[in-house]
Amino acid sequence: MGKILVLDEASINKIAAGEVIERPASVVKELVENSIDAGADTIRIEITKSGKGSIRITDNGCGMSKDDAALSYIKHATSKIRKIEDIENVRTMGFRGEALSSISAIANVEIITKTKDELSGTKVIIQGGKLVSIAEIGASDGTTIVVNDLFYNTPVRKKYLKSDTVELTHIIDIVSRIALGHNHISFSLFNNGKELLRSPAAELHDTIIHIYGREIAKAMLQVDLESAIVRITGFISRPSLMRASLDFQSFYINDRNINSRAIGFALRDGYGTLVPRGRFPIAVLKIYVDPHEVDVNVHPTKNQVRLGHEREISDMVTQAVKNALMHKDLIPDIKIPMQQSLLYETPAAGSFHVKETVTDFRPSAKDTERRLRRSERAGMEMENIQTIEMPDVKVLGQVDSIYIIAQTKNGLMIIDQHAAHERIFFELVRESKRDDSQELIVPINIELDPREKILMKDTIPYLEEFGFRISEFGPDSFAVTAVPIVLGRLEDPRMVHDIISDILSEGKIKEETGIFERVTKSIACRSAIKAGADCSSSQMENLIKQLFMTRNPYTCPHGRPTMVSFNRQELDKLFRRTP
Ligand code: ADP
Ligand code: MG
Repeated sequence: MGKILVLDEASINKIAAGEVIERPASVVKELVENSIDAGADTIRIEITKSGKGSIRITDNGCGMSKDDAALSYIKHATSKIRKIEDIENVRTMGFRGEALSSISAIANVEIITKTKDELSGTKVIIQGGKLVSIAEIGASDGTTIVVNDLFYNTPVRKKYLKSDTVELTHIIDIVSRIALGHNHISFSLFNNGKELLRSPAAELHDTIIHIYGREIAKAMLQVDLESAIVRITGFISRPSLMRASLDFQSFYINDRNINSRAIGFALRDGYGTLVPRGRFPIAVLKIYVDPHEVDVNVHPTKNQVRLGHEREISDMVTQAVKNALMHKDLIPDIKIPMQQSLLYETPAAGSFHVKETVTDFRPSAKDTERRLRRSERAGMEMENIQTIEMPDVKVLGQVDSIYIIAQTKNGLMIIDQHAAHERIFFELVRESKRDDSQELIVPINIELDPREKILMKDTIPYLEEFGFRISEFGPDSFAVTAVPIVLGRLEDPRMVHDIISDILSEGKIKEETGIFERVTKSIACRSAIKAGADCSSSQMENLIKQLFMTRNPYTCPHGRPTMVSFNRQELDKLFRRTP
């Protein structure tokens, strides 16, 4: 250790910048928040090379006078608070005066801005924190900020940037969250001139359509609850729509997107046992409280807050979620005491997952037959499947085309036909050789949305390990030329699209084991006979036979039980026959 030396201003600024600006997405977040604070109702975000090239944000907000523009990039220069006490009542996204100074310390920045009252605008150029020029310029009302060469003078940080795909997903993620939080503002996002996202000013549900798509929006339930201290509004997904990560949960406190474990737990509590382990509901939850109750000044990026009455607010979130789920009659009114009635121990019996409804259309008998045959044929080609002794089962019938009722040697068994078939396919896919692939006579063309497209490129190598062969085909679509053999003769090309969408819809791939599970589950789910499919007795018998050839016949790949059983003693007990 040597002598203590006070760092020079430039070094201090670079260190401080690191707290606020971690990656291109942080620049986008800070600049967009400034545009929101400026009262803009249209914000356009144009980036090149996932933000590693340039980031340009254009808004139609209040703009800055020449004097303000000249001050804006100075550290702790802000128009949003005047004195420290103002923080207690702050309603703007920014207030620390750090973003522009941090960004301009580690990049080349150009500000073009004009207020309504002035006849001409101002252009300011700053490089590495130093003013290069300031000049009068013709401009329209509002502000454009261009950030070039981010991290050019902080090589270590630059080195740790992730691939273009990862950085771009971060940007899409942050813009999506902000757009959901400020649904009355229009946002558009372009990368290398290509539009990736457009979210016009709209009611929240329409914004969800623009950000997550119509299918997801359709499966969302409205949340609305108000008490003396808090108002909670937004949307949450039905129990039938879950994701494998938290990427699809956005929480806002007074319109500020925040990370909060407390709110996350509260949301989960609201679902109770409707959420299986490792699955997460989609949510857009807006919480409004008196600004005095929120300390927003606990973190430089301002995405964490300290909440007064946190316990009460969390409880209200749980209650709001419960109410939303209740209204839709998602919770069955008859509760069978599962644990005691189960003949077979099931690992996840507690997380009994309610499949809400049956598919809108009734699958054809031919479709059901085909699906059953496929697993049968694939099963015969496989070796080494451990067999649990097939119990003596006589099929009695089917309830609602979902549950198979069967008599066993010592009681009664109810089987969820879809869950059972899912288990069968899951094991077939898992055991099959990776390169078991079949060429398609006619390639299937699939179109993907912007988010999916980005993820697709990284996902293809994994899909190919399962026997898919996929290549880019035109700007928005991909051609599938081969599929895994377990998919059999593909009568419905939509199935391939569904499988790929399932996999992509779960968001970023974090690890290889994750993608393996994801692909296997999705193929299994999409191949299985549907809840709602009529089955003949022989089909049901066949299904049960196949089920007992799997390693773990008792749960589906998501951990739900495939079957429950009541033995004679239990039935007798139910009818008080026991002496
Ligand atoms: P903060 O947002 O915390 O005040 P920033 O460094 O982000 O700090 O911005 C500094 C100041 O520059 C803001 O307070 C605001 O007055 C001005 N400013 C920045 N961006 C814009 C914009 N897009 N439109 C109008 N004014 C802006
Ligand atoms: Mg700011």
